[in-house]
Amino acid sequence: MSGWEKNIRKVVPYVPGEQPKEEDVIKLNTNENPYGPSPRVKGKQLELEKLRLYPDPCASQLVKAIADYHGLKTENVFVGVGSDDVIAMSFLTFFNSEKEILFPDVTYSFYDVWADMLKIPYRTVAVDDKFKILSEDYKCPNGGIIFPNPNAPTGIAEPVSFVEDIVSANKDVIVIVDEAYVDFGGESAVSLIDKYDNLLVVRTFSKSRSMAGIRIGYAMGNEKLIQYLNDVKYSFNSYTMNMPSIELGVMSIEDEGYFRESIAKVISTRERFIKEIEKLGFTCLPSKANFVFATHERLKAKYIFEEAKKNKIYVRHFNKPRIENYLRITIGTDEQMDIFIDFLKNLV
Ligand code: PMP
Repeated sequence: MSGWEKNIRKVVPYVPGEQPKEEDVIKLNTNENPYGPSPRVKGKQLELEKLRLYPDPCASQLVKAIADYHGLKTENVFVGVGSDDVIAMSFLTFFNSEKEILFPDVTYSFYDVWADMLKIPYRTVAVDDKFKILSEDYKCPNGGIIFPNPNAPTGIAEPVSFVEDIVSANKDVIVIVDEAYVDFGGESAVSLIDKYDNLLVVRTFSKSRSMAGIRIGYAMGNEKLIQYLNDVKYSFNSYTMNMPSIELGVMSIEDEGYFRESIAKVISTRERFIKEIEKLGFTCLPSKANFVFATHERLKAKYIFEEAKKNKIYVRHFNKPRIENYLRITIGTDEQMDIFIDFLKNLV
């Protein structure tokens, strides 16, 4: 090892789902939304001449649109470059004690990567044999808590009362609820942020707003939390939100009709898809997300994953304990899901 190598921050990076280079694939592996952004986003004329200027470091227009949408004050909203950026900033800001932070053993696989990179001690808490998070397991000394609701990759959602149970039992630490998938049928904990100053709720434009490519995420919480987050962000990089993101993000928020319509389509396709594949010997966890976590009674998940890929259908397989025999299948259009169902019929 060279002398300088011992001073490097060595990390094992998060591995995102594959983005295949070939066209004409059916891509059900990264929980994107098949319907695309609102026509208002697509029709927006950007004044590219303005790009010579720095963007508004506060992204005020977007923060205001998000705050109004949720009935909050702008002081309750923080925006970032996708919820990955928002959550990374939150780890840096709020998880600063010697105590372990807690998150489920089966969950978004970025949490342990951030904790490792930022040298935050952590402990994973096992979900039960039905893959449910148990709130009682989070009532012990800790340095902070994060979990997605609905959880990923299981898709299982818990009611607001469940979130409140955890938040109220942990008033001395920050509890982050990652609501990346909540619009597909979950219950949001946003209503609790007035009541609990230790709760941060994180959302994204990547799934329900079908804008993964724009990279917008946001956090909502007590003004003090948002102030602390902004202090860290401005100590790191002031201009995270570029001008097109700010403007197009506002356009999306303003088109509630389109938003509701595309979510309803995803939900109805999800319910139909679950029924169809259960006839083929699959068991699906109860999903309130834009994906389904499924296992087959006979065929190994890895085998199905590989065969699907040979047929240009991409789904996600995690080679990890407890879930290696499950596939996470993003809900695409009805036509895409029908092609996948036909493929499964042949395979089974
Ligand atoms: N949280 C969860 C649970 C996710 O699955 C994802 C998507 N990979 C994210 C956060 C991050 O999404 P984005 O950075 O696109 O907002």
